Amino acid sequence: MKAARSAKGSRTGKTSPARGAYGRIFGALRDHNKLFSESLPLIASENIISPAVREALLSDFGNRYAEGWPGERVYAGCAHIDEVEIECMRLAKKLFRAEFADVRPISGVVANLAIYSAFSSPGDVMIAPSIPAGGHISHGKREHSGTAGLVHGLDIEFYAFDAKEMTIDVDETKKRVRGLKKAGRTPKIAMLGGSLFLFPHPVAELASFFKSHKIHINYDAAHVAGLIVGGRFQDPLREGADTMTLSTHKTLFGPQGGLVLGSKGHAEAIKRAVFPGLTSSHHIHHMAAKAVAFAEALEFGRKYAAQVVSNARRLAQELSACGFHVLGEGRGFTESHQIAVDVWEHADGGKVEASLEEANIIVNRQLIPGDIKAGRNYFHPGGIRMGVSELTRLGMGGAEMREVAELIRDVIIDKKDARRVKSAVKSLRRDYQKARYCFDGRRDAYEYIKLR
Ligand SMILES: *Cc1c(COP(=O)(O)O)cnc(C)c1O
Repeated sequence: MKAARSAKGSRTGKTSPARGAYGRIFGALRDHNKLFSESLPLIASENIISPAVREALLSDFGNRYAEGWPGERVYAGCAHIDEVEIECMRLAKKLFRAEFADVRPISGVVANLAIYSAFSSPGDVMIAPSIPAGGHISHGKREHSGTAGLVHGLDIEFYAFDAKEMTIDVDETKKRVRGLKKAGRTPKIAMLGGSLFLFPHPVAELASFFKSHKIHINYDAAHVAGLIVGGRFQDPLREGADTMTLSTHKTLFGPQGGLVLGSKGHAEAIKRAVFPGLTSSHHIHHMAAKAVAFAEALEFGRKYAAQVVSNARRLAQELSACGFHVLGEGRGFTESHQIAVDVWEHADGGKVEASLEEANIIVNRQLIPGDIKAGRNYFHPGGIRMGVSELTRLGMGGAEMREVAELIRDVIIDKKDARRVKSAVKSLRRDYQKARYCFDGRRDAYEYIKLR
């Protein structure tokens, strides 16, 4: 009895330091859920999951190891795990029309590392988009602590980028690769896809050129995977990419995780890279949640992707009408879930991000083409990036995009009091609390579920 009481608090009635920390952690978790239920989450790499995906995450799978491949595990107890993982792979292959899927990478970065490990050696050259041109830090150079350079020792060259068209410049890129070949530095891997990603990359235009130089083409679909399965973006594996990597949680419906896709010929090299190379436990509960999310995407992915792209374009048009300099205007602003805004005339991207946060509008600052030449850096870049995946999953449409644009204008251009804008944000959110595009959406998306 005494021991039980002292675990809760000492005889003087004070809680123990551990008990205090324990309480503070749960307090912050509850506050976080409430904050997001009353905000406009516009981070392009984020989304919400359905109650079904949350349920899978809480299963006992999360306490188990299932090293290796279904049917070839090195531990016992994997019968049901194998069943789910086989289903997960089957769904992934069907969604992306791929011969081979490895569902074990625990994140998009790990998926990219699997490709580097399977198809290149340290010291090899990889050509990739630079960060202001939309590349991800996992494609980056050693001196920037990019994963490809720092972890796998790749030597990174950048594509030529056309800032007006907001995509890779095909002719200039071919010239660069021919120059690299003359210098004895032909790339081993060409990485396409990126993080600031408004328009499809020229995969078909570059594929036969890269293949004639024996360059492995990987397409990083971390951001646009959900649009690809919904038939609303390019189809990289049909356009000539050898392999594709992605995150399962940006425009897809999954928990945070990664996935690698390819043909049968790539399977053995990828499998070895993922295990034992890059994972021991592959976070089995996340694997199960991916399987559920893939089933949701198969059923609802087309409708969702169509609404996402339509919402992104509408938000861009409305922001432009409010007086913002939205990038990609000549091409209709965007063909993905993202939009990018050059905010330099109002304030730097970091300040804009902070001002919007005071009104519960959550965006991220963004390096945009021209920033590095102008001497700007990641802390004070010229732009912000927004994505509409989460607002769309909550059921918002064109009319709400207009309201969102006006709220952003109120803060950044009209400099209205952030507290007043915040209350307008909360009232806009009141009717949008459930994940749509799923089989079972009974519980609120941000509901705090207490199990203790
Ligand atoms: C987000 C992102 C990743 C990393 O994904 P994680 O799942 O966060 O590891 C990789 N590549 C690109 C292009 C991304 O945008």
